[in-house]
Amino acid sequence: MSLDVHPISAFEDNYIWSIHNQQYCVVVDPGDATPVIEYCKDEQLTLVAILITHHHSDHTGGIDTLLQSYPDIPVYGPQNPKIQQITQRLKDGDHIELPHLKHNLSVMEVPGHTLDHITYYGEGSLFCGDTLFSAGCGRLFEGTPLQMFQSLAKFTALPRETKVFCTHEYTLANIKFAKAVEPDNQALVEYENWAVQQRINNLPTLPSTIEKEQNINPFLRCDMNTVITSVSKHKEALLTSEETVFASLRHWKDNF
Ligand SMILES: [Zn+2]
Repeated sequence: MSLDVHPISAFEDNYIWSIHNQQYCVVVDPGDATPVIEYCKDEQLTLVAILITHHHSDHTGGIDTLLQSYPDIPVYGPQNPKIQQITQRLKDGDHIELPHLKHNLSVMEVPGHTLDHITYYGEGSLFCGDTLFSAGCGRLFEGTPLQMFQSLAKFTALPRETKVFCTHEYTLANIKFAKAVEPDNQALVEYENWAVQQRINNLPTLPSTIEKEQNINPFLRCDMNTVITSVSKHKEALLTSEETVFASLRHWKDNF
């Protein structure tokens, strides 16, 4: 069974994903409560759980206000005690059943962007927080390049048709960098045309899929000669492995 998922826009470029049926919904990373409350009212849905991927405030800032309206709902999230509102603390390999929705999701620990970062996967969908973006990946605020590389490898081991629900609309900016790395990647050029059109029509470029990202996202293509050549031209670094290519690529993007 596939999930019904709807984006709720928040702040400049965040998406709070709502997993829903006709009656109930669960939201992922509600950084702001107001658009979630409006969405539930407009769609006549009852919020039954909150899922959190990591501690950043643009992913957690709405929890308190939502709990005022829905005081008894579970809040799933990482072990990090700094996120005090979490009622169900999760670790790698845990499984959860979303209340009232009968959907099962499994939990993966994916350190890199932050050390507490977890993701939720199930029913053909991946809620990856700030770990993977379309045509890019999260900044390394707390983890090492190796940790992030290994976290992304968990995603590419998933079925290729898996839908990828990222939490930011960063696609067009990411494509600019991806084109600097692989100017001759035809799939990337075609993807840019599509993404530009989506944004002109005020539509999200998400969800993506694992397959799409493997074709256009340089951070998932560190084994490709085109990427290796481009990284080695840009930076004098000893590119001895995919991990070192990834680390140099991430460093390049940080200064792009
Ligand atoms: Zn973040």
